[in-house]
Amino acid sequence: MADTIAAISTAPGEGGIGIVRLSGPASEGIMRCLMRDCPSEIEPRHAYVGKVVRDSSDKDAEVIDEAVFLYMKAPASYTGEDMLEIQGHGSNVSLKSILDAVLSLDGKLMHQGETGRETYAVRMADPGEFTKLAFLNGKMDLSQAEAVIDIIKAKSDLSLEIAEGQRAGRLSEAIQSIRSGLLDVLAQMAVDIDYPDEDYDDESGAYSEIISQLRWTLSEVDELLSTASIGRIAREGVRVVIVGKPNAGKSSLMNAILGEGRVIVTDVPGTTRDTVEESASLGGVPIVLIDTAGLRDSDDKVERIGIERTTKEIAGADLLIIVLDGSQELDEEDDKVISFIRSMSTDHMLVVINKEDLGRTITEDSVLEKLPGVRIISTSLLGKGAVDAAAKISDAIGEIFDLGGIDARESNIVTNQRHVHLLRSASNDLDEAVSLLQNGEPVEVAELSAHYAYEKLGKIIGEEVGDEVLDMVFSKFCLGK
Ligand code: GDP
Repeated sequence: MADTIAAISTAPGEGGIGIVRLSGPASEGIMRCLMRDCPSEIEPRHAYVGKVVRDSSDKDAEVIDEAVFLYMKAPASYTGEDMLEIQGHGSNVSLKSILDAVLSLDGKLMHQGETGRETYAVRMADPGEFTKLAFLNGKMDLSQAEAVIDIIKAKSDLSLEIAEGQRAGRLSEAIQSIRSGLLDVLAQMAVDIDYPDEDYDDESGAYSEIISQLRWTLSEVDELLSTASIGRIAREGVRVVIVGKPNAGKSSLMNAILGEGRVIVTDVPGTTRDTVEESASLGGVPIVLIDTAGLRDSDDKVERIGIERTTKEIAGADLLIIVLDGSQELDEEDDKVISFIRSMSTDHMLVVINKEDLGRTITEDSVLEKLPGVRIISTSLLGKGAVDAAAKISDAIGEIFDLGGIDARESNIVTNQRHVHLLRSASNDLDEAVSLLQNGEPVEVAELSAHYAYEKLGKIIGEEVGDEVLDMVFSKFCLGK
């Protein structure tokens, strides 16, 4: 008999309501024990309001809370087992008392087991155990279970939309369709192994039909893989690195985007000695903003370390924003910054000509001369200009990463590193299968590679994954989910 598990499923802290959630065969018995005047017939999916007590048979038992009791009968529940939700007031103290009352019933409730009268085991749930049960009981596949955690942890509209599509089974469908096509090819290959020569195309000296089907499968896998870079951005955010000489307005720009005075803004050059990193959502897109130290030569040891770090950040940037003080001619220090980045593609760059309110000295042409084709915005980061600048940067990000063209609710975007690794590996296997056949190797050798690809694709949706993979996936969950 399975254990009955319990946890507080709502976030800790004060809240309007808080939920203690249970899954397992003792759920119904626990409801009878903890709900004063519990009806003799409990209707599943019916909300009962009642007093929570430690022992309903004791008329004088102290009332812990008044709550809604919601019983769900297997298999019509999230986990596929009997479940109970006790929805009380969102107080840490009362929720802990309710959970404690539930756990105190471990080994106390009886049922008729295979060996006669047995007791139910009731224990605390492990992190992610409810969703793990849902997976093990076939309520969802592994990619859908992984999407549940992505939904809980989503930091932007975009990441939420992608995660919701995955939870609804869109990635699973794509994987299943690719696998079913691949299974047909594997069957065809098996026939060729058993009856060589049957399908052999003497003219091209290759298994042309099988090769073209394998190529089609490969293209489908590669199409999914091609979304991984957008997927990474959706999950981790666009890395926006802000560079510029000291005092150009980098910190002011960062504050403009964040909409708050988190970064110290001063008029002493070189204040931002280290890199400062903040996460934000800009126009629904997650971004990670990195304000860097200036790039001028410095004898100051601390500042020099900051400059080294800036160089590293530039190398890892998705978008580089160069801030120039537009009220002064481009000088040696600006040139130094520009020479740092000149070798990089201007596609992922944006120049902000700042301090427009002080009058413009720098022309766009002089910037374009140094960085041909670069996007430029002119602004003042004082007052209302800050809001305009943030909006323009948001537009530029949407344009550069073509995020506007993505219908996250309709298309498949791969965000999960486990999926990316498996897809990449399956792509290599399929590529190898094609090459082997083209090189006239025996079909059984190619079949082996194609078979590996089939298995790896299956692992994405949780087929034949070992305990270590499940432990790795579900350990990332919070308690009560
Ligand atoms: P950083 O060293 O590049 O990070 O520059 P800061 O953001 O700290 O700004 C340096 C100084 O320039 C501060 O005194 C800001 O208030 C000022 N500043 C920033 N943007 C503007 C602007 O658009 N116009 C004017 N007049 N001053 C600005």
